[in-house]
Amino acid sequence: MADGSINAECKTCGGKEFRFDREEPDQQVVCNSCEAEVGSLRDVQHALRTEGERVMNDAIADLKKKLRKSGWK
Ligand SMILES: [Zn+2]
Repeated sequence: MADGSINAECKTCGGKEFRFDREEPDQQVVCNSCEAEVGSLRDVQHALRTEGERVMNDAIADLKKKLRKSGWK
């Protein structure tokens, strides 16, 4: 399984490490700390693009880089 990681903040525990399968857009993104499912990769990416932009610009830039690197369109 092609696990990846993104930088954002878990709404449950405040954790900043998540894991997901970058090859499956509908895969649940899971917090590495508390195992909470934060949504599908697609949903998380959308959320990061919109509401997250004010507070997580750095994280978004980093996420976009990682997603682009992994071939995300
Ligand atoms: Zn968490």
